[in-house]
Amino acid sequence: MSFLSQLVGSFSQGAADNPTVAMVEAAFRHHGIDCRYINCEVPPDRLGDAVRGARAMGWIGFNCSIPHKVTVIEHLDGLGESARIMGAVNCAVRRGDSFIGENTDGKGFLKSLSEVTDPRDKNIVMFGAGGAARAIAVELALAGAAGITVVNRGRERGEPLVALLNRETKTRAALVAWPPNFRIPTGTDIVVNATSIGLYPDLDARLNLDVESFAPGMVVADVIANPPRTRLIRDAEARGCKAVDGLGMLINQGVIGIKYWTGVDVDPSVMRAKLVEIFGV
Ligand code: NDP
Repeated sequence: MSFLSQLVGSFSQGAADNPTVAMVEAAFRHHGIDCRYINCEVPPDRLGDAVRGARAMGWIGFNCSIPHKVTVIEHLDGLGESARIMGAVNCAVRRGDSFIGENTDGKGFLKSLSEVTDPRDKNIVMFGAGGAARAIAVELALAGAAGITVVNRGRERGEPLVALLNRETKTRAALVAWPPNFRIPTGTDIVVNATSIGLYPDLDARLNLDVESFAPGMVVADVIANPPRTRLIRDAEARGCKAVDGLGMLINQGVIGIKYWTGVDVDPSVMRAKLVEIFGV
């Protein structure tokens, strides 16, 4: 018998709102993995200490969330490809004595999307240009998307994202300043909401787009996990589109993180059940 569990966890501010610990620990218990996930409230000026502590205690990795996704990089020993391109890390993985930074935001999204369609050679319209959008766009580009039209309210975040995609990947990217009642262009294969529109408690919040421009067969994906059945998802399904909810993205981030840390492929349905219980959906 061993009374020494392996340790992983999360460093963020606002940690109390993050349900990842419950989801990940449900998977550990289900699969009999002797590992604990510790959710930690870490202010920006203690992040270095937290990472040094994780090293000292032999943690096998950790997630980091707002506000540490960029600043954590200076405390790590290397970066995976997409994390390097994005310049943001939300998952550190111990390799020998090193912590390598990865980003599972976009990878979780991609895994969820891949259950419905392959983004290779597809034309994509993505709303939003914040942290989630950046992660998703880079993964879609690395997966071989033909083109990504970024539709964003402000240019401040839109322009750097489009420049990054055009510089670092083979995907063609263009920015559209979000007009009222935006029409999805004909020939679009995949539509992604990567804004925070629709997040609880704004259950009926609608993106400023013409839902008549949804064509049957389009794939419409939302990053919003709570609630999973956003107005966008409901509108898209009503028009014959295939919908991909944000709960899948969150769950798959857990699946990918646990695979990085322990090498085990866990059952996503266990994590989905836990989140459904928490969100009450
Ligand atoms: P950011 O604050 O970095 O970006 C927010 C984006 O939403 C920006 O592009 C912003 O546009 C846009 N936006 C916000 N409100 C509006 C509005 N009323 N009208 C038009 N555009 C708007 O947030 P993140 O990218 O970190 O997160 C976005 C969402 O993704 C969050 O709701 C979060 O819950 C979700 N998420 C889900 C995950 C999952 O696993 N399911 C993982 C990570 C995030 P502008 O630049 O013009 O301000």
